[in-house]
Amino acid sequence: MEYKKIIIAIDGHSSTGKSTVAKQLAKALGYIYVDTGAMYRAVSLYAMRKGFIDESMFDAEALEEKLSEIELKFEINSETGLAEVVLNGENVEREIRTLKVSKFVSKIAAVSSVRKKLVEQQQKMGKDKGIVMDGRDIGTVVFPNAELKLFMTATAKDRAERRYLELTERGEKVTYEDVLKNVVNRDHIDSTRKDSPLRKAEDALKIDNSNLTLKEQFEQILQISKTAIETH
Ligand code: C5P
Repeated sequence: MEYKKIIIAIDGHSSTGKSTVAKQLAKALGYIYVDTGAMYRAVSLYAMRKGFIDESMFDAEALEEKLSEIELKFEINSETGLAEVVLNGENVEREIRTLKVSKFVSKIAAVSSVRKKLVEQQQKMGKDKGIVMDGRDIGTVVFPNAELKLFMTATAKDRAERRYLELTERGEKVTYEDVLKNVVNRDHIDSTRKDSPLRKAEDALKIDNSNLTLKEQFEQILQISKTAIETH
């Protein structure tokens, strides 16, 4: 069945399972899925490799000067069928998911010129609609006129537990305390930055998934999406 094309914006706190549900939803509707967090993570990896950021410093100006040299694309992994991020010709999907990148990404994402570059690219990706995009500012800044906006949240403890499992299953050696600290810290930086702070758009539907299984959450969101498609 072919669904009419709308824009579905999914925002919310860190590690709320936005990308999991966004991927499932895009697949069910035959829509394109765009993970905007992956784009901010790839720019962070670039800055880390160039030595523009580490535990003790962040040279935002040096990054801004090199912004035009950063090219981001998505390519489909033929085995999984999922989009993976490509930074200047290199597939960095695995590397951008580490806790190390998570520790720097919110500082990078607070830089206005970084946001401007990525938001423009995101708006181009959505011009033909039929897209599910997840991030922090999709319903407020990237697509303020999106036909459906969801805002996902859950307790910090639930989110850190999920992220901890995900990282350790991938073989990363991390502690639960570190993961929890990172989740709380990123939410703080993301919600208090000057440019495009994380907040629920007034017309977004809030979904607290602390007590929902993945299946329940998906079914609920699929139903909401189908209704939104029918009424637009
Ligand atoms: O979604 P994910 O957790 O991978 O995003 C990583 C970080 O990228 C967020 O903590 C936030 O700092 C930044 N981000 C953002 N705006 C978006 C998507 C992500 O600022 N639209």
